[in-house]
Amino acid sequence: CGIVGYLGHREAYSVIIKGLQRLEYRGYDSAGVALLNGGLNVYKKKGKVADLHDFVKGKDVSSNIGIGHTRWATHGEPNDKNAHPHVSNSGKLAMIHNGIIENYSSLKTDLIKKGFDFKSDTDSEVFINFIEDIYLNSGVSLAEAVRLALNKVVGAYAIAIISLEDPNLLIAARKGSPLVVGLGKGEFFLASDATPIIEYTNEVVYLEDQEIAIIKDGHLTIKSVSDVEMTPYVQTIDIQL
Ligand code: GLU
Repeated sequence: CGIVGYLGHREAYSVIIKGLQRLEYRGYDSAGVALLNGGLNVYKKKGKVADLHDFVKGKDVSSNIGIGHTRWATHGEPNDKNAHPHVSNSGKLAMIHNGIIENYSSLKTDLIKKGFDFKSDTDSEVFINFIEDIYLNSGVSLAEAVRLALNKVVGAYAIAIISLEDPNLLIAARKGSPLVVGLGKGEFFLASDATPIIEYTNEVVYLEDQEIAIIKDGHLTIKSVSDVEMTPYVQTIDIQL
């Protein structure tokens, strides 16, 4: 339901928790974050963002990159394991997803035949493993694997992905669910709407349907799912907090 992402010089966790709280008005049943700090740390819980924050107290949250989610369950009951982020079978990729993947069941059957296993009942966990399967077997970049996967999934999505292999990479995409990229000085924000972003920057790019945002090594590249590079349309927003 709600998405927040961060890549920059701040502590990602604080930006994400604050951002998720700003998105609470959208309604949700669970919340979670994924952070990179040498390893991939995922903390997720059924309940409120405040419950997640309590659960995380005392744990290592030092990281300059992360993604966070508030879930409104569509596939699988609200519980800890169905909460996002979901981690791929290799343990390398973490993803948050808003929306519904309509062909998840046939994709899941194919992935199970290939040896994948699933810890949750969600369509979203199928989605990240579908991306992983392409990534690990085709020798393309992660961004390209995401693009290829998006050409095969049916449904609506706003997604954000981080990878253990590259702490300077944040990938996002949307179709049917909104997603905004915030541009700071040497830092990038992602969110379902601008409210989590405006206290840090008023420069934003609203992703269009079927676009992929690749934030890598301090640069934002936007591509269509049909592989056309787009010029980001930067808007200056004026919203009072
Ligand atoms: N379909 C996904 C799930 O049930 C995402 C739900 C959402 O948009 O929060 O986990």
